Amino acid sequence: MRTIKTIEGTYDVLPGREGGNPMLRVEAWQRIEEVIRGVMRRFAFEEIRTPVLEKTELITRSIGALTDIVHKEMFSFRRGKTDYVLRPELTAPVMRAYLQHHMGSRGGVRRLFYMGACFRAERPQKGRFRQFHQFGAEIIGTDDARADAEIIGLLAAVYDAFGIDDVSLRVNTLGDPGARPRYVEALRRYLEPLESELSDTSKERLRSNPLRILDTKSVREKELLAGAPRLIDFVGQRSIEFWSRVKGYLDDLEITYTEDPFLVRGLDYYTHTAFELESPHIGAQSALAGGGRYDLLAREIGGKSDVPSVGFAAGIERLFLALEAQEAILPGTQPLDVFLVAQGQEAMRRVLRLGMDLRVAGLRASFDLDGRSMKAQMRAAHRARARHVIIVGEEELDRGCVQVKDMETGDQFGLSFDSLAAYFLGV
Ligand code: AMP
Repeated sequence: MRTIKTIEGTYDVLPGREGGNPMLRVEAWQRIEEVIRGVMRRFAFEEIRTPVLEKTELITRSIGALTDIVHKEMFSFRRGKTDYVLRPELTAPVMRAYLQHHMGSRGGVRRLFYMGACFRAERPQKGRFRQFHQFGAEIIGTDDARADAEIIGLLAAVYDAFGIDDVSLRVNTLGDPGARPRYVEALRRYLEPLESELSDTSKERLRSNPLRILDTKSVREKELLAGAPRLIDFVGQRSIEFWSRVKGYLDDLEITYTEDPFLVRGLDYYTHTAFELESPHIGAQSALAGGGRYDLLAREIGGKSDVPSVGFAAGIERLFLALEAQEAILPGTQPLDVFLVAQGQEAMRRVLRLGMDLRVAGLRASFDLDGRSMKAQMRAAHRARARHVIIVGEEELDRGCVQVKDMETGDQFGLSFDSLAAYFLGV
């Protein structure tokens, strides 16, 4: 029988792998998660965890039936009378949870963050997976333009914490919901005479969702779009004022950005502020993160009133690529405080007890379970980069003591069982 392997577009993350691709190393993930959590803690964002499985309806109603995600990228299935989906993103699930648990009922704005797996049936390639991981943040319950600047400032702070500074932030306003249909019509009228020059995908989008054509990577289509109508010219005065406030606050925070009139996000629920963070060093899938304001989302998924909100979502695999591009060193296996080496049956028994005691006392300790020779056990201690080795030999056992070797200095000395924990804990 053939052995069973991971599904294409997914991967295992393993412990104890030195070198190689850090994305496949659990210690690197732990460090990345730690840094992200650290920034979120400083910004006083609270963590929220929602199920991986949601009702398909949540996604179709929020992201929009005409988007690529809903159209062709959902892992969904039916069981009984319910349609389920493996979440392709987390903003809609977070808003669902906010509404379901009346998280806004005590008044005040909620600052939330999340980290977790998302699923999209895309064609796998560099930086693009079928199971990938996002972290993101949402400020829920305010239409204050300062929140838009805060969320962008938080995004910038995360990449800063990783020392990634060669990024570009593009921003745009999608305006009020009223502006969009009129703009889409104008865009369609502009592009229709040029249809023969468009790619098949864009031709299809011209009918289904012309805004998505603005996302094109094709140089020829970009040229064609140069003279296209701009969304900003269709946006009402109040939206323009809101947008100037956002930009003013970004300037206050000294955040560098470029305005891109053609930046539209692939999800339907965005209004007003939209932004994307890109890295020039990570290949074709250059988007590190994206986000914007989504004042309409709450109502679209059944909320009784508007819940103005703004947030971002960032790809962790893309963050790995950006770190790799600047040759950042991510941690490998964590060293041990102590490796216990046993010589003989009785010592093996004693090592189990001593090892457990040291762990309970707060030390990172390990020992051999293969019954290997002393030499092989010493090699294992080296591999594990143990700071100390405790050798329990037959002779020492009789005297109730052990040999301790400091692996950094090479010093070796005897200690009694009773004084071990105290020695290692420095008391
Ligand atoms: P989106 O919700 O499409 O704006 O995605 C937000 C971020 O998630 C993107 O900027 C990427 O960094 C990341 N991302 C989206 N789709 C994938 C994927 N299939 N594989 C890896 N990362 C992804």
